[in-house]
Amino acid sequence: MRSDILPLCDKHFRTMEPFSAPYNADYCIDFFRCTAQFCRRCFSERLGYVTPKWGEAPQFSSQQPRCDYHSRPMFISSLDRQRNMIHYSCPEPNCRETAREDILSGSQAR
Ligand SMILES: [Zn+2]
Ligand SMILES: [Zn+2]
Repeated sequence: MRSDILPLCDKHFRTMEPFSAPYNADYCIDFFRCTAQFCRRCFSERLGYVTPKWGEAPQFSSQQPRCDYHSRPMFISSLDRQRNMIHYSCPEPNCRETAREDILSGSQAR
């Protein structure tokens, strides 16, 4: 995971904080976690945005953009509130692949 940009929560667009926790017997991953109270949204570079539940396989959205080069789930790197656009970046260090999404319509624009 790159260290120059922190992911934003895909629900609150708040900066997420890194934390590391055993998830279950199969998963022990470094996550980023939303700092909003009661928000359990996490980002992991392997799964993308997930809301983990203990002992359950993570449900992740197939709609999140992936990097064409690394086929990794991309994270929200910034929010343009004036244009209601979110910008995605690849978690791979130094990867310059980005994606944009219109948060009002939910449609992806590249
Ligand atoms: Zn959140
Ligand atoms: Zn990439």
